[in-house]
Amino acid sequence: MSHYKFYEQVNKNFDKAARYTKFDKGLLNQIKVCNTVYHVTFPIRRDNGDIEVIEGWRVEHSHHKTPTKGGIRYSHKVDEDETMALAALMTYKCAIVDVPFGGAKGGVKISTRDYSVSELERITRRYTYELIKKGFIGAGVDVPAPDYGTGAREMGWILDTYRQMNEDLNAEGCVTGKPIQQGGIRGRTEATGRGVFFGIREACNVKKDMDKLGLSVGVDGKTFVVQGLGNVGYHASLYMTQAGAKLVGVAEMEGAIYDPNGLDLEKLVEFRKETGSIIGFGNSKELSTNKDALELECDIMIPAALESQITGDNAMKVKAKIIAEAANGPTTADAHEMLKERGALILPDAYLNAGGVVVSYFEWLKNIQHVRYGRMNKRFDEESLTRIVREIEKISGKKFSENEMENLAHGASEYDLVDSGLEETMITAYHQLSEIREEHNLTDLRTASFINAINKIGIMYEQMGIFP
Ligand code: GLU
Repeated sequence: MSHYKFYEQVNKNFDKAARYTKFDKGLLNQIKVCNTVYHVTFPIRRDNGDIEVIEGWRVEHSHHKTPTKGGIRYSHKVDEDETMALAALMTYKCAIVDVPFGGAKGGVKISTRDYSVSELERITRRYTYELIKKGFIGAGVDVPAPDYGTGAREMGWILDTYRQMNEDLNAEGCVTGKPIQQGGIRGRTEATGRGVFFGIREACNVKKDMDKLGLSVGVDGKTFVVQGLGNVGYHASLYMTQAGAKLVGVAEMEGAIYDPNGLDLEKLVEFRKETGSIIGFGNSKELSTNKDALELECDIMIPAALESQITGDNAMKVKAKIIAEAANGPTTADAHEMLKERGALILPDAYLNAGGVVVSYFEWLKNIQHVRYGRMNKRFDEESLTRIVREIEKISGKKFSENEMENLAHGASEYDLVDSGLEETMITAYHQLSEIREEHNLTDLRTASFINAINKIGIMYEQMGIFP
């Protein structure tokens, strides 16, 4: 385990990249620091009548753009350092994928397994109340979203609490990742994993980079291991296998398994639901510890759990040629250097897992526009396309089947538009990073991603009034 705290790790990466930018020390410091750190304690009543004190945070890292944006994490490991690090990563992440928000993060120090659903609801509503009281939530202020330990259900409670206390026309935009019925957007649940897949696919399509690694072009046929089968790990694995990649190893809290012939993802998820564990699935071999999965033979390693998984202690044993950081901060700064030395291609977290916040941005836009994507144009597009196809039929004498007709004259649904916007964003951002890597003669994309973020944020600060 590295002795550097998480926030320091993020800043080490920042400092490495800052050398390649034109900004002076003062401005760089302004970008780096967390603008506001709110630490709160509040009581909740347990189901048995006891009162318990809960500890939480909300950190707004940068107000160079508003609102600030970032998830809320529920975990017994949450602390101020982690929340600050994750808030900072959100700032850089948003800049890298051109999402016009500053970064923020929230955390509540609880292990969700220790609480009933109604206790979790009371915790979430009370935490939201504390955010409202101190002005840490609102469509134009600070917009939370799901993170580790939270999901659509919690976001629904947050919105409802906010709405009870605010007559705000844009109330729905105060939080993203909500259930569809409460103003959520189609495609948000799978967005982070989907974005991870788009990023990996783009990297694997660059022949020059694959040649360097001794790998063939494309995702098809590549082997991969995933650490964490939560929302992000599961969806990333789903799209990877659909594209022809082979899942050969999985690590979860209870342990890790390996099967060089490939693991059936859906069956594995089913098996875990039934037995409560991945151990003993099919013909897989059990590994001694779940961290051993990081050292498995494979082309692509996808850490999709928590931070500081690949450290100075195990980096030299990681055999994968591509490290695809689906989690936030899975590789420590010293481990990054070791992997780089070895020639591995690291797809950095602040780029690779940005799909969640990208689709959150689309959800927020939908909420402040008060209209679902596709509502105005879907039918109109379908009718125009149908007329064109009918004309083609007349001219060519060919008659299209109902299926073909549906394919040719399909108007985009909300999901189609979200997916296409996400794909476009991930592809564009990847090429921006590769260009910066070339321009500065770098060997890694993480430094390129920080240079990109610092340049975009620095320009905003340069233009901003710094009051006397
Ligand atoms: N918690 C997610 C992240 O780390 C999503 C944040 C958001 O959608 O605001 O990127």
